[in-house]
Amino acid sequence: MFDLSDVRVLVTGGSRGIGLGIARVLASAGAAVAVSARGADALAAAADELRAAGAREVVTVAGDIGSRAAASAVVDEAVAALGGLDVLCANAGIFPEARLADMTEGDVDTIFDVNVKGTIFSVQAAVPALTASGRGRVVLTSSITGPVTGYPGWSHYGATKAAQLGFLRSAAIELATARITVNAVLPGNVLTEGLAGLGEDYLAQMARSIPLGALGTPEDIGHAVAFLASREAAYVTGQSIVVDGGQTLPESPEALA
Ligand code: NAP
Repeated sequence: MFDLSDVRVLVTGGSRGIGLGIARVLASAGAAVAVSARGADALAAAADELRAAGAREVVTVAGDIGSRAAASAVVDEAVAALGGLDVLCANAGIFPEARLADMTEGDVDTIFDVNVKGTIFSVQAAVPALTASGRGRVVLTSSITGPVTGYPGWSHYGATKAAQLGFLRSAAIELATARITVNAVLPGNVLTEGLAGLGEDYLAQMARSIPLGALGTPEDIGHAVAFLASREAAYVTGQSIVVDGGQTLPESPEALA
C-alpha cells in the first residue's frame, strides 16, 4: 500500500459510488480527505463511514461543481479546511441516458457543465494550492465509454469523457513546471449503488462480458488512483489507466467463449 499519511486530498463526488471508493482507499493509506457533493445527507453519511473506518481527518464540502464560481467555492472551502491541498480527484460526474433522436440542447449543456466544465474549473481552482504543495497531483475519473467504447444512449456522455482526456494532455504540460501531474483513470462497469438496483440477472449478464468475470468495485478504481496520487508516481503525467477487468479486450463475443 502506498503511504499517503502526509497528503491532503479533495475527492469531488465523494459522497457515494466511485468517489467514496476513492476516498476509502486514500484515507486507509493515511490521507486527510475532503469529500464534496451537492447532497449534504449523503456527504454526512460518507464522512461517518470514513471516520468509523479510522480515517485520520475527514472534511465535507457541500456544493455543486457545475459552474466556475461554484466549483471554485468547493475547492476553496476544502483547501481552507485541510490547510492546503496535495491531490485533487476530479471525480464528480453524471450519466443520464439520451438517444440522439430525443436529445435536447439542455441535455447536452447539463452534461458538459458537470463533466467537462466542472472538471476544468475544479482543476483551475486547485492549481494555486497544488503548486504550493510542491507534489501536486490531479486524477480525473473519465470512463471507457467515449475514449475507448460506445453505448447507445450515451453519446453525449462519451463525448464528455473523451473531452476530459483532451483536457488532461495539455493541462499536464502546462502544470508540469509547477511539479503538478495530471492523469486519469478509465473505469469499466463498476458496481455502485445505482448499478446494484438493476437486478441480479442484469448484473450477471454484464459480468459475463468481462474477461475477469466480475464487475469492478469502487475500491478497484481507488487503488489505481492511490498509485497516481503517490510519491512513487511522480514521473507519470498526461496518462490514463483503464481499470475494467479486461472488458475492452475481446474483439468479438467469440473471444470470450
Ligand atoms: P454516482 O454514484 O452517481 O456518484 C456521483 C457523485 O458525484 C455523487 O457524490 C454526486 O453527489 C456527485 N455529483 C453529481 N453531480 C454533481 C454536481 N453537479 N456537483 C457536485 N457533485 C456532483 O456516480 P459514479 O458511478 O460513482 O460515477 C463517478 C464518476 O465515475 C463519474 O465521473 C462517472 O462518469 C465515472 N464512471 C462511472 C462508471 C460506473 O460504472 N459507475 C464507469 C465509468 C466512469 P450529488 O448528486 O449529491 O451531488
